[in-house]
This record gives sequence, C-alpha cells and structure tokens, in this order.
Amino acid sequence: MPNWLTNYVLPKIRAFAKKDVPDNLWKRCPGCEQMLFHRELAANYEVCRHCGHHFRIGSEARFRLLFDGGVYRQIALPSVAPDPLRFRDRRRYSERLREAQAALGAGSEAVALAEGEIGGEAAIVAAFDFAFMGGSMGVAVGEALVAAAERAVARQAALIVVPASGGARMQEGILSLMQLPRTVIAADFVKEAGLPYIVILTDPTTGGVSASFAMLGDVTLAEPGAIVGFAGARVIEETIREKLPEGFQRAEYLYEHGMVDRVVPRGELAATLARLLGLLRQPDRAAAAGAE
Ligand SMILES: [Zn+2]
Repeated sequence: MPNWLTNYVLPKIRAFAKKDVPDNLWKRCPGCEQMLFHRELAANYEVCRHCGHHFRIGSEARFRLLFDGGVYRQIALPSVAPDPLRFRDRRRYSERLREAQAALGAGSEAVALAEGEIGGEAAIVAAFDFAFMGGSMGVAVGEALVAAAERAVARQAALIVVPASGGARMQEGILSLMQLPRTVIAADFVKEAGLPYIVILTDPTTGGVSASFAMLGDVTLAEPGAIVGFAGARVIEETIREKLPEGFQRAEYLYEHGMVDRVVPRGELAATLARLLGLLRQPDRAAAAGAE
C-alpha cells in the first residue's frame, strides 16, 4: 500500500543513489575485475592497464589510432536498398536498423571506411563497429568492402580491414551469405593489383566474416585476447563431445598454431602497420636499410 515511505522517501533515495554514482564514468574490467576510470582508459587506447584486457572500440577510435597523426578522411558508404526481404522476427528488421543508425549516426552501418596515410603510405581502412547489430555483414557491408577494394586499386593504396563481427546478418538471409564470395573477390582484386591487403583481427571475428575476407590477409595481425573462429566453442564442444583446449579460439592460440602472423597490442598497431607497409611497398629501400 502506498504511504509516506514509498511515495516520498524511496524516490528521494533512488534519485540520490543515481546522482552519486554515474555508471558511465567507471568501467569494470572483465579481465581482472578492477574498476577503471573512463578518462584513464581512453588515454590507454581502451586497454586495461592492470591486465591488458582490450575493450572493444568503434570505427572512429580505430581510425584515429591507425592513421598518421590521427588524420583521415571518412569515405561515404555506397547506398543499398535497406531490408531487401522485409524481414521481421520479434521486431521488424527496418526498426532494428533505424535504432542502430540512431545510436551510431545517420548513414552508419556495421563497417566504416576512411583513407589517409599510415607510415607515409597511402591506405584505405575498413573498420567494423560491433555496436552496430553485432558488426554483422549484410549487403551494405559487402558493398562497402567492394568499394574499399576498388578505391584502394584506383588510388594505389594498401587496404587494411579491421573486422569485429558475429558473422553474416541473419535478417538478410541468403543475400548476406552472398557477401562471403563477394568480399573474397574484393580482397583478391587488391592482391592482384600488387597492393598490400592486411587484416587486423579484433574481438570477436566469427561466423561468415571469419569464413571470408578476414582470413585472407597477406599479413594477419590480431589484438591480444581476441576471439577468432567460425563456430562458437560451446557449439563445437557439443558437436564433437570433447573438451576443448585452454585458450581455444583466442588470438594467442591461433598465433601458436600458425593462423596469425603476430599478436600486437593495440598501442603498437600503428607503428607495426607503418613498418609492414614500408617493407611491402618499398622492398628495395627496406633491403638497403637492412644491408647498412
Ligand atoms: Zn583488467
């Protein structure tokens, strides 16, 4: 029954509790359970300074991190017909899309494109936003990767792709699966032009994305602790009825088994990329420098 306590005292306490502890200033690290202050976390590339846990970051932060001096030009995504199947499950797909775009900005999708220089070399970067429907790959993402590849060839630039994706976008059915061969062809297009195609695997890279362009890099880097695989560990365990080894599907495990060339902490990614592009694009100069 409503009384003075429920009507007056309780709302006051609730309001006070809310004001006192803004939940966006501190983040609990899932790696070590420490509370991390947001500004400190941002200054350390969203990496926990206690245990090295890499938090997921969006495309904008990724561009600032990778391009020389954080300077880049964003490339508009090609427009596609939204919701081709007029799909609905519990909710309409068009509604989910609108909601994701409201959160990440008009015209956004699960991938964003930008161009600039890395280590002084021309580069196009395609970075995924896991926050946009789990970074899932539908027609818009496939189209964006094709556009990125074409632009890389037209500008004689390297293509760097940074996936963070749960896989194909279920709401687009077979059309999302068609993006697997399309993105493979896009990666090949860059390679055949003699330009570097580099993939930086981040947490998570799974499903149809790991089954297409994400595994085709001339060089494959990965962020520490990133989950990379096709099917989830639990599904595999239930299928083969066996316990999976420790660290299965983690970047370090993939490195030990030859699927990844190097595991690179986020803070060292830009310098590593710059060095790689220098070696790949100017082999003569690199050889001369090595001989000195
Ligand atoms: Zn931590």
